[in-house]
Amino acid sequence: LEIPDRGVLEGLDPEQRAAAGAADGPLLVVAGPGTGKTRTLTHRVAYLVAERGVPAESCLAITFTRRAAAELAERLAALLPSGRGEPFVATFHALALTICREQYALLGFAGPPSVADDADRAAVLAELDVPMDKPVPDELREGFRKRLRARGLLELDELVPLAVSVLEPGSAASYRDRWPHVLVDEYQDVDADQYALLRALVPTDGNLFAIGDPDQSIYSFRGADVGFFLRFASDYPTATTVTLTRNYRSAPPIVAAAVQIVRPGTLVPGRGLSAERRDLGAARLAVHRVATEAEEAGWVAATIDALVGGSSFHSLDSGRVDGSDEVEVPTGFADIAVLYRTDAQSRTLQSAFTSAGLPFQKRGIDRLADRPGVPAVLRELVHHPGPVVSRLRAAGEALAARVSAPDLFSAEELTLRASDVWSAVELLRPVASASGDDLDGFLAAVATGAEVDALDPRADAVSLLTLHAAKGLEFPVVFLVGCADGVVPLRFPGEDEDERAVREAEERRLFFVGVTRARRRLFLSAARQVTRRGVTSAAALTPFLAPVDEGLLDRTGTAETPRRPAARQMRLI
Ligand code: ATP
Ligand code: MG
Repeated sequence: LEIPDRGVLEGLDPEQRAAAGAADGPLLVVAGPGTGKTRTLTHRVAYLVAERGVPAESCLAITFTRRAAAELAERLAALLPSGRGEPFVATFHALALTICREQYALLGFAGPPSVADDADRAAVLAELDVPMDKPVPDELREGFRKRLRARGLLELDELVPLAVSVLEPGSAASYRDRWPHVLVDEYQDVDADQYALLRALVPTDGNLFAIGDPDQSIYSFRGADVGFFLRFASDYPTATTVTLTRNYRSAPPIVAAAVQIVRPGTLVPGRGLSAERRDLGAARLAVHRVATEAEEAGWVAATIDALVGGSSFHSLDSGRVDGSDEVEVPTGFADIAVLYRTDAQSRTLQSAFTSAGLPFQKRGIDRLADRPGVPAVLRELVHHPGPVVSRLRAAGEALAARVSAPDLFSAEELTLRASDVWSAVELLRPVASASGDDLDGFLAAVATGAEVDALDPRADAVSLLTLHAAKGLEFPVVFLVGCADGVVPLRFPGEDEDERAVREAEERRLFFVGVTRARRRLFLSAARQVTRRGVTSAAALTPFLAPVDEGLLDRTGTAETPRRPAARQMRLI
């Protein structure tokens, strides 16, 4: 590999530079958490544009979520010379929608199709005389989709397969010319349709820059298949593989523990991960045991209060791996994230935070278009003139007025309250600001938004998010709550042994993703008694901590007691 060491590749280490500055052809970057994968991908684009004279718009960068796409676009804008075109940065859904809209005639549409929202679905279900109960019964599916299509509408999950179907009969060539460089972040999470789309867009010896970490594949329940990552070299026989092994994110004890946690099920045997950031301290991982989940939430709130207040920082930081003094680092609320396995766990946390008066923001991964109030705002907004931001404001005002006046509103508006409307407007505002006068682009961005990004990195608030939503992010201080067997890993009744083994392997990777979000401090906590679906039962500590050296852990809270017999389980409903 040629390794240029100047210009845009400054600030990368030699392995990262080998990847970002590689010659043409397929390239796979296999690398653990915090090794600079995303950073390497953005520098690859900058290198192609600045050093190799590739027009920016010839580069297509693909990710999975809107947040990740927005972050990539932002990082690229900072790296690339202005006024020389822009790379196309998109989620798989947004890319597929672009192709479907451009190729509408081949798909049999009279004009560019849009993505259906709840109101569209309700209208079609009414035609079919089916109540608006989700999901649509299987035997109606085809007829349901046909009717949507007759109205120029598509469901989100058909976008990628349809894009593939129009590329196959021969229109792939024009896209291959348009985007001779295709880059994919988090490649370990592609599913079969996304894989087929990439196969159609990039020839076997083409410039596919795929980057990811098999040990962070956590979406198999949604169809992702890490097998596509693992067989990259045989799918693309001329491919080069680069491995990144230096972690620039986390303090050494966190890196050491993470490696021990993932090793029993690793998909990348023998891989190294060295901790480069010794300056981030050497605090052990706190493992805190309490009696109940309410107590756990209270402990998290009190600990955060003390961390941000600064006064008890030393006493909290009782154990250190190297015995030296902790360097006190000021911590703000925004430096802290609380991660959990299931969204239901956030309720107890939110009430503890509210009672303690701690500011927090919670992020969901719902579809933007399905959030309360959003469909109503979208329908209203098209009736107002001007740039998208002004339309949005006008729509919010019109709806708020209608909702508070007791006449003439749709069934959906009946269930809305003026607060819902304004929070929908707030959710849509960042998308609107980025859309300028492009109403069509705005509607497409909202329709394909796979997650709500209510998380504002500048807000002075603790972030609450699920382990899945935390992928790719980093925080100086992380609390991972609910580290109790049955929650991490989550157990489901009725699974056979094989299913359970496959799912537990993925749960282990999910735990690994959570642990590796922390930069300086990691607090793990577990209650002895957990409630799931109304059933309260005794819970041991997660088995995923078993491989971790005792010397890396600082155990606090109540001492372990023998497991309660099952007969003492309580049923609370
Ligand atoms: P994940 O697997 O969680 O997605 P990643 O491999 O994509 O992680 P990045 O988010 O790109 O990692 O980088 C992790 C952190 O390390 C970031 O704060 C980044 O700025 C920093 N970093 C990456 N490479 C370097 C480097 N060569 N020198 C200094 N800091 C670096
Ligand atoms: Mg990343």
